[in-house]
Amino acid sequence: MRDCQRKISQLAHWIKEAQQALALTGAGVSTESDIPDFRSPGGGLWEIYDPARVASVSGFLKDPEGFYKFWAARFASIERAQPNVTHQLLAELEAHGLLHGVITQNIDGLHHRAGSKRVFEVHGSCRRGICHECRQTYPIEKVFERLQTGAVPRCEGCGGLVKPDVVLFGELLPEDFALAAQAVTKADLLIALGSSLEVHPVANLIPRAKSSEARVVIVNREETPFDRIADLVIHAELGPCMRELRASLAKSLSTARYI
Ligand code: NAD
Repeated sequence: MRDCQRKISQLAHWIKEAQQALALTGAGVSTESDIPDFRSPGGGLWEIYDPARVASVSGFLKDPEGFYKFWAARFASIERAQPNVTHQLLAELEAHGLLHGVITQNIDGLHHRAGSKRVFEVHGSCRRGICHECRQTYPIEKVFERLQTGAVPRCEGCGGLVKPDVVLFGELLPEDFALAAQAVTKADLLIALGSSLEVHPVANLIPRAKSSEARVVIVNREETPFDRIADLVIHAELGPCMRELRASLAKSLSTARYI
């Protein structure tokens, strides 16, 4: 415990020192908002569902009805979820000039809802639907209206299948990923939170930050493949850890660094 507190004080110190700090978040930041992650033992979604069926383009095209059964239930739980202390602290840090932005692999929109302004959604967002053929986008509510009639949503323009605007296995990453990769080269601190760092190319942002001489901090319940190159690794639950970090930064959070 004392070792953990020492590491959190170190992280607080580096956040105050940094000029361009970035956070990189994964599904682990939202588990305390009751949205399950993919890979945690005893609860990760991939222990229950087959990712090839419900999270790949080929699965979507082969069985859109089955695909939407999974996603409709997921969206319902995302809609009920509220931002937790990690989302809130990241938004506060940005508002106080202590964090340049959040790169998130999450599609749940909770960083926006917590008040973060500069969010790179590198795996897309569940707030939109998108036509698989012509890329026309739709508000997600419209996709659900269609699903409620028992039909798979189709594009009003070209008749193509409409899918949630989230990156599926077999798809390219959106422009936000290129922007995030660029931002990482300018960062002097990258804090990875709640990610197994097993999904590429996003995980490569860690060695990219290191090669641009940024400090890298990893906060996760479990080990990650990049722990050995990080400057600081905290294996802990995010909730208590972020509360402790907020307390360490209390003074900085009561005064804006730049307006
Ligand atoms: P992941 O499931 O691979 O890894 C999550 C990591 O977070 C695990 O190592 C786990 O031990 C850790 N973790 C879980 N809860 C934690 C907690 N309370 N405190 C500390 N650590 C905790 O997730 P990933 O790395 O983001 O990559 C998988 C993909 O999952 C991403 O592409 C993302 O799009 C997708 N995803 C998103 C959501 C969401 O939007 N909330 C949910 C599930 C999956």
